[in-house]
Amino acid sequence: MVSDVSPTPAEGGGTRMLWEQSSRLVARGHDVRVVCRATTDGEAATAERQGVRIRRFAVDRRTVRGFVVSSVLGARRVVTLELRDAPADVLHVHQPLAGVGVLMSPAVRGLPRLYSFHSPAPLEFRSRRGMTAHHRSGWAGRIGLTALWGTERACLRRATAIHVLSDYSAEQLWKLYGVPRDRVVKIPGAADTTWFRPAADRAAVRTRLGLPAARPLLLTVRNLERRMGLDLLIRAMAILKRDRPEALLLIGGVGSVRQELESFSEALGLREQVRFLGFIPDEALPLYYQAADVFVLPTRELEGFGLVTVEALACGTPVLGTPVGATPEILLPLSPSLILRGLAPETMAEDIRRYLEAERQDPEAHARLREACRRHVEAHYTWDRTMDALEDELTRLAARPAAPAGRPVMCSACGGETRPSSLLYRGSRYRRCLRCWSSVIAVPPTALELRRHYESEYLHRFSHARVSAERAGLFVSLLDRLDAFGARPGFNALLLDVGCGGGHLLRAARRRGGARSARTSRGRRARLLARARDSSQSRPTPASFRSGTGRSAQSRSSTSWIKPGSRMPSSARCTASWPTEGSSRSGSRTQASIDRG
Ligand SMILES: [Zn+2]
Repeated sequence: MVSDVSPTPAEGGGTRMLWEQSSRLVARGHDVRVVCRATTDGEAATAERQGVRIRRFAVDRRTVRGFVVSSVLGARRVVTLELRDAPADVLHVHQPLAGVGVLMSPAVRGLPRLYSFHSPAPLEFRSRRGMTAHHRSGWAGRIGLTALWGTERACLRRATAIHVLSDYSAEQLWKLYGVPRDRVVKIPGAADTTWFRPAADRAAVRTRLGLPAARPLLLTVRNLERRMGLDLLIRAMAILKRDRPEALLLIGGVGSVRQELESFSEALGLREQVRFLGFIPDEALPLYYQAADVFVLPTRELEGFGLVTVEALACGTPVLGTPVGATPEILLPLSPSLILRGLAPETMAEDIRRYLEAERQDPEAHARLREACRRHVEAHYTWDRTMDALEDELTRLAARPAAPAGRPVMCSACGGETRPSSLLYRGSRYRRCLRCWSSVIAVPPTALELRRHYESEYLHRFSHARVSAERAGLFVSLLDRLDAFGARPGFNALLLDVGCGGGHLLRAARRRGGARSARTSRGRRARLLARARDSSQSRPTPASFRSGTGRSAQSRSSTSWIKPGSRMPSSARCTASWPTEGSSRSGSRTQASIDRG
């Protein structure tokens, strides 16, 4: 394993992740060596902790340039030496700076490499620009930013597989670097469920920590950086104070904006409502989680996973989080009400107030929620689970398979065999059916993924209330293309809008030539309708996505034209793909399939 951060002092998510992974792989009988930079100049070059052999390289901290160059070259030198002494089966790289030197070194040629992508380094850098000595503003910062893009891109290109903690990160890989989903493996983070567990007596824990027994207690533990949105939460506290002056927010952690946040809080007159705890040592962390009524995650951007979220949940403490990054992925299956409706302090304050009110009015329901939080982590976010997956992936890589893993994918329209096609849409690779030439997506989303998408992400991406000119133009261009196929809506043609959507496409088609239309939102349902239409020429009835159709369930569509009595263009026939992506998804996926057709 190669990393910028050292696995020994446990501060920050990256460090904790590295230590858990390396030590747990050793416990499973693997030989793990970690190469990382020394945290201080005097630190020993080699160390061993619980069987993990750690080899550190010194870095020059006097200048930024010296720091970067010595990080890159130091890692490269030490890894070369390590591999000369004893070869390895897999290389696991954690951060780009140390990683790039190693991945570009001839010493690792032929070695399978896994690259862990936790958060995009350049964006992380940009969000901290001008805040620390290493995150300069001005020209130096701009050069640094450009260099980081190049560095991370080089790492991603040279990795055999890329590990992410969430679907959100996988999506970022595609958007920022064009990395397709089939090179990405998702293994979520985890919480140590024996260490982070609910308290038998929460009142006793509060007494032990010197916290007030009766006041509603909000907690957040973060690196105090701008992207964490703590200023928003402090503003929200100022609003909440009007209704619930007794609510107390505890902020744990250190970082570059601490001073700023403290004076801000002071200026808002929140001396009694907001308390800064500084760095919370490991042994006290579970206690703070247990003591809190709710953990709040006010993140603004770049939440690749959020270890603190699962740690708090493991302690039975519900988490209220902003709909940013991977937070909805973790919270939505537990309860949609745990996702804050927005980042505005007014919204946050209102959601927190409602939460506290519900807790006060129905303590039993609240106790059930706390139990559900714990069960959620036990079911999805234990280290055993995570390590099983990581071990599998490293083993797969070490075996150097000739072909990528995975079951054969059969065509969902005709059952024929499929092959990967060159078509990529939002990172997902399509497959082409060898029999009927349909383009099908290899891995349809699960029911949970669909729900998360439509109940959380979709609403933020595309407001149903308005159709942009761009989107309206897209519908028209789709109809033009269908015309070009000869599938013009006429007296006897049916436009089947799979996904029903807001009906925008159907409306556009009707305006054009009085097409008859039907809507559905499921590919399978669509095929059945199409077959019924083909055989009986009867008019199918519209079907909705699910009963009790809400605002969120109305806006998706992919489209097929069914032209009775004539063979349809193959691609238009089976765009029976699944809705997975956002606003322009529906239109452009159909369009993409047609392009291929
Ligand atoms: Zn087929």
